[in-house]
Amino acid sequence: MQKIIILKTKTLKKNNVNIVTLGCSKNLVDSEVLMTQLRGNGISVSHENDANQSNIVIINTCGFIDNAKQESIDTILQYADAKKKGLIEKVYVTGCLSERYKDELATEIPNVDAWFGTRDLPAILKRFKADYKHELVGERMITTPSHFAYFKIAEGCDRPCSFCAIPIMRGKHVSKSIDELVKEAKGLAAKGTKELILIAQDLTYYGLDIYKKRNLSDLLKSISDVDGIEWIRLQYAYPAGFPMDVLDVMNERSNICKYLDMPLQHITDNMLKVMRRGITKQKTKDLVAEIRSKVPNIALRTTLIAGHPGETEKDFEEVLEFVNETRFDRLGIFTYSHEEKTHAGDTMQDVIAEEVKKKRAEEVMAIQEGISAELNAKKVGNIYKVLFDRKEGDYFIGRTEFDSPEVDNEVLVDAKSNYVRIGDFAEVKIEASEEFDLYGKVVN
Ligand code: SF4
Repeated sequence: MQKIIILKTKTLKKNNVNIVTLGCSKNLVDSEVLMTQLRGNGISVSHENDANQSNIVIINTCGFIDNAKQESIDTILQYADAKKKGLIEKVYVTGCLSERYKDELATEIPNVDAWFGTRDLPAILKRFKADYKHELVGERMITTPSHFAYFKIAEGCDRPCSFCAIPIMRGKHVSKSIDELVKEAKGLAAKGTKELILIAQDLTYYGLDIYKKRNLSDLLKSISDVDGIEWIRLQYAYPAGFPMDVLDVMNERSNICKYLDMPLQHITDNMLKVMRRGITKQKTKDLVAEIRSKVPNIALRTTLIAGHPGETEKDFEEVLEFVNETRFDRLGIFTYSHEEKTHAGDTMQDVIAEEVKKKRAEEVMAIQEGISAELNAKKVGNIYKVLFDRKEGDYFIGRTEFDSPEVDNEVLVDAKSNYVRIGDFAEVKIEASEEFDLYGKVVN
């Protein structure tokens, strides 16, 4: 539940905007771009900053699946209520939920001043009598710790996955040009960003629209050449049509993390067909094997869905077997959410009970927990380059190149006997391990 702290606003003359972001890192980048444009127009802006006296709140919503939608609606209602109480003057809503349900929401929650879609940045700026400043393209205020930044290389998606509403909310795939992205990377590096986490709906589709070929490898080379960028991480790769030349660049360039996030969503031929994933079980297994043979110590992350219509007990047994034998380094699982206007939402019945979906997801995570514990135990005694993100309680907490922020494992070093600066790298010798965490000491 989003905490709301707002001070009385009557005395404020100048607009003071607080942006609240829900959902994924792609949404976060949109909020950061909006903040940059508002600030570029002289409007003071902050991100989920409790201490700030803001008279206007912009909520950047998520509309992906049920839980996320509910969280967005709850947040909107809270700020609409704060407006009713005179704590703030205006509430604007943007992002995926607004893109998808603008008309219904405007009727149900009249206290919101305006609803915007996912591609309405100029319209939002207009509300502030501000213009879109092209000279700021490539500039970005970041809301993550300054040493890492999410780096969105494209918007939208052309894939037909049965369960997914993202193409409805984000439109067709549109790649940013390599020049624009290199300019953005240089701008971030100049401000101290060391790690870029490349994101898109489908990272591996990059370039097919503007360069008429899969061009992620060329983009990687160009970004890898940017001074100051020490880690480049790949998230949201799509299995079908995976561009293998990306792995060659990963091997050639030491600042590209040996890490790949590739949501598979399922593994049986029956379900990959039903989910319209455009790949088979054998091809998926061959791809995983080839990626591991080309980049031997790569950390593979994947995401699965439990309980999609059509999934049989036999399908699920195959999933358990696949997870057991493939031993992913990192794995997450969602329960299927029946989304209208998606292929599954419009043509299939959501017949699998929620508790069955939940039980299947828990069974998979129980296996993964065991695998993660075993893989982590093997890291004891090894030394890893760690990027430190924060200090929490008695520990400095960081990540190896095999870990993405917020979703993967962390490395904890005792703050009483070790000193590191947040945002710095240090060599850490691993001394102990748990399912999802490693403990160590700084060795240089
Ligand atoms: S690749 Fe599939 S799951 Fe991912 S955003 Fe596109 S349609 Fe959705």
